[in-house]
Amino acid sequence: MKFNIKKSFLLPFLILPLIFFSSCDQKKTKISSKQALQRIIDGNKRYVNNKSLHPNRNEERRKEISSKQSPYAVIVGCADSRVAPEIIFDEGLGDLFVVRVAGNIVGPIELESIEYSAIYLNSIIILVLGHENCGAVNAVIQDTTTDIQEIAKLIKPAVQEAKESQTNNLLEASIKNNALNMKSFLEQSPNIKQLIQDKKIEVHAAYYNLKTGLIELLE
Ligand SMILES: [Zn+2]
Repeated sequence: MKFNIKKSFLLPFLILPLIFFSSCDQKKTKISSKQALQRIIDGNKRYVNNKSLHPNRNEERRKEISSKQSPYAVIVGCADSRVAPEIIFDEGLGDLFVVRVAGNIVGPIELESIEYSAIYLNSIIILVLGHENCGAVNAVIQDTTTDIQEIAKLIKPAVQEAKESQTNNLLEASIKNNALNMKSFLEQSPNIKQLIQDKKIEVHAAYYNLKTGLIELLE
C-alpha cells in the first residue's frame, strides 16, 4: 500500500516530462518543407500588400530564443541593401538563418554556414534568392570584375549559360541562372544531399523583383 501511494504520487512527475518533450518534438516537426516554402511565400505577400505583421520582434521572443535558436529557413541572399530577408518575408528574430554575400554565391565558407543551420539547427528549407538588377551579376556581364574576382568566378557560368540561350534579357537570365546554379551546388553537397534523401530539407531558388517586392520561384 505504501509503495502504491508513493508510485501514484510520482506518476505525474514521470508522465508530465514525457508529454512536455513529445509536444516539443511535435512543435519541431509540425511544419514540413512544403509548408515552410508556403510560409515564406505568405510572408512575402503580406509585405507586398502592406499587411506585414512584423512577428517575433518583441522582448518575449528575444528571451524565448536566447538560449537556443531553431530557424526554420536558411536564406542565401545578396548583400544588396534592398533585399533584407526579414523585411521582405515578414519574419522576426530566430526565424531565418541568413547568409548574405554579393551575388548570393555559395563558396566553401558560405557552404559551411548553410550546412551548420541545416544540420545542427534543423532548418527545413534553403532558399537561394537572386534579385532584379544585381550589381555583382551585372559586373560579370560588363566585365568590370577587378574588385570582385573571387565572386565573379562563381557567377561566370550563369552568364555564359544565359549568353548561349540567346535571351533578350541577359541580366535577368544570368541572375536566375546564378540562383539555380547555387541551388544545384547546394543539392550536390554530400551533407545536404543526405538531408534531402532523408526528406529533412528542400532547396529552392527564387528571384526578387525590386519594384514590386514579389518573389518568383524558379522551379
Ligand atoms: Zn545583388
